[in-house]
This record gives sequence, C-alpha cells and structure tokens, in this order.
Amino acid sequence: MNILIVEQLKTRPTRYLFEKTVLTMFSILPSLYPRRLAAITPKHHRVTIVNERYKPVSPIDKYDLVNIHFTTASAYRAYYLADIFRRKGVKVVLSGLHASALPEEAKQHADSILLGRGEINWLTLLNDMENNHLKEIYPPEDYPSEIKIPPTRVELPGFMLIGAVEATRGCPYKCSFCPESNTPNGSIFYMRPVEDVIEEIRSIPQKIIMFYDTSLTINPRYAKELFAGMRELEKHFMCNGNVDVLARDEELVKLSKEAGCLAWLVGFESFSQENIDQTGKYTNKIETYSNAVENLHSNNIPIIGDFIFGFDGDEPDVFDETLKHLEILGINIADFTILTPFPGTPLFSQLDREGRILTKDWSQYNLHTVVFKPKHLTPKELLDGVRKVYQKFYAPSKSIGRCISSLKMGFYPSSVVTGRHIVSSFNIKNIRGG
Ligand code: SF4
Repeated sequence: MNILIVEQLKTRPTRYLFEKTVLTMFSILPSLYPRRLAAITPKHHRVTIVNERYKPVSPIDKYDLVNIHFTTASAYRAYYLADIFRRKGVKVVLSGLHASALPEEAKQHADSILLGRGEINWLTLLNDMENNHLKEIYPPEDYPSEIKIPPTRVELPGFMLIGAVEATRGCPYKCSFCPESNTPNGSIFYMRPVEDVIEEIRSIPQKIIMFYDTSLTINPRYAKELFAGMRELEKHFMCNGNVDVLARDEELVKLSKEAGCLAWLVGFESFSQENIDQTGKYTNKIETYSNAVENLHSNNIPIIGDFIFGFDGDEPDVFDETLKHLEILGINIADFTILTPFPGTPLFSQLDREGRILTKDWSQYNLHTVVFKPKHLTPKELLDGVRKVYQKFYAPSKSIGRCISSLKMGFYPSSVVTGRHIVSSFNIKNIRGG
C-alpha cells in the first residue's frame, strides 16, 4: 500500500519573516510519532511522511491510506484534509490526543480512529486494511512495562539542529489539565531497555538531542542508569523532569550533568500550593522549588520553568507574585501559558459541568487564548496578565542579565539560555485574545 502519514498540521499562515526563513532552513524538534509508525511498517508498504511546517499536504498525490495525527488546535485542518481524501476514495485514519479524546467527533471525518498510542495497533490496522476489514475504532491495548521500539530514523528538510529520542513513555501522575497522561493508556509508564536507547543516541548524528519523555524523573533508578551509560557518548541534551526528584536527588542531577545535560524543563506550574493541589500534581511542593533550583544551578544546569495562569486560586496579583518568585529563585528561562481545558481531561469535564467553557472552537485551544471563564479574573485580565509577565520577564535588561549570568555555566548551557531568550521575545506576539 501507498501510505501517507501527516504530522504538525499548519493551523495559521506563516506570518513572520523568521518563520519563513530560519524555521524552514532548520528542522527543530521533529515529532517522533510518524517515524515510529514508519519504523514498524512492513517493508512491502511505501510510507511517506509529510510535515506541514515545511510542505503542505497535497491531496492530488495518490495514496491508499492516510493517517493524520493531530492535536486539538489543529482539529479543523485535520478534518478538512480528511474530508478531501475521503471524497477521493482514500481511506483515512485519524489519531492523536484530540481524536482519542473525542472519537465520536473524529469519526465523522474518518474511516477509522486509532486511540491512544498508535503504534500498538498499527500493524493490526494495516492487516485489516489489506483484508478489507478496517474497523471504526482501534482501542488501545495494554503495554508491557518494558518495550522494544525500533530506532526511529528522523530525516527532515533543512539542516537538523537537534536530534530527538524517547527513552520512556507515559506519565502516571494524571494532572487534571494534562492531555497526554489523560489520553487512553497515557498514564501507563513504560521504559525502553537502556542499551537500546544508548544505541539509538549513538546513531543520531546531531550533537544535541532532546528527550521527548514526559519526565525522566519518574523512575530515578532508570534515569541514573541511562545517564551513566551516556557519559561516553559526548552528546548534549535537554529533558523534562519533576520538582520532587530534582529537589532531593543530587546524584541524579550530577549524573545528568556528566551525561551532557544542557537544561532541565520543569513544570512548576504555580507558586500556590492550593492551585497545585487542585491539579493533583503531587510531585510539586512549593517549599521544595528552591532546592530543585539550587541542585541544578550548583551543577551548572539552567532551568526552563513552565508556569500556567488561570487556576481557580489565581487572583489579579498572581502575575506580580509570580514575577517576584521567579526573580528570587533565579529561573533562567520560563514559558508562560494560559490554563487550557483540553477535551478528554478532568479539567475540561469540570469546567464544562460548571458552564465555564467559553468556546468549543478547537482552533482557540492553543495555550495562548482564554477559552474558559476564570474564577477570580476576567478573561481579559488573564490574557493581559500573561502578556505582562512575558514582557516583564523577557524585558531586554532582564534577558541580557540572565544571559550574562549564564556564561559561568559554560558555552552550551549559556547558548541555550541566550537562544531561548531570543525566541521567547518573538512568542509574545502569539498571545492573543479569544
Ligand atoms: S507530571 Fe507532567 S506529564 Fe505527568 S501528568 Fe502532570 S503535567 Fe502531565
């Protein structure tokens, strides 16, 4: 069969000059999903992967099967393409977080829905397709805790700055706002054998790689084994982790540095314990934040902190309070998003029940638009507040100060800090009203 797998759908026209030039000359952070499917697809099929960031999908090309993998914000583009292909008689399979959360909606535009982690059912689906028995829904199947995944060869247009790898998948914590862990089977955590991951990293040509794992601190023993094995590879990497382990496990942080860690991405989310407790993110205790930061900084590792605004405990002073804490802690880089109730999450069910969802226009579910009624803020206050935090945190004088102070961490870590400060200054423009 001639199979097309579509990823990173285009949800808006290219607006800025840097997107038209730099972002198409360089490939940054490719998604692994289509490459994983391609890796396990039997060789008698032909697989084409199209990433719409570089090239729009052309429905003129002839395919037997099209798999469109998409998120909530790109649902309408996915449905538009799916409808075109189906009118031409091509079988369409939809997958991804949104299709898994709302299969009944997705089914109106597809011959089949692949729920949860697609690769588990992909071979069955291909087999059914060859035998003309494509099912409407492929529910997720149980995973063993350790699983073999073939290496995912990543080839993208342009010069690839950063390689990508995944050592573990899933997250057992199930925070109420998290679409990944609340997708079918998303909370089942599994690990690839460390030696397989090391071999894959060795084969990646890029010097810098990104771990796509939701968190590399879920099983500290596994992470330590992985980092110890990476020491001889002379790579640099960035990865996600949770506050609890980063605050208490000095050995893990030290091993990550020796393995080449350039930055840990940490979901602090909020400086209010009440907010944190409402999300169920029990890895986060406010009083341990400073220990995590000190632990990383004493190993010359910068921190990329994630912060969310719009929780029920957030009042108008939350923006200034957050900025104050960021200064005190010395967070090097920060991402600020607006709380977004993605379909399929407990947060969505709660807000929907309470009549607080302002729009079900999925294109607005982009983390930078207010789509629900906050408790103690107006939507405008929330939006303006996040803009203000962005502008103040990335004010030129502050950015320059953070970049200069990161120089003592060494060339690569300070390059990460400088690069992210430049990119984040562009992101301010993307925050808009809903
Ligand atoms: S810890 Fe992170 S990945 Fe895990 S459920 Fe919470 S937000 Fe999602």
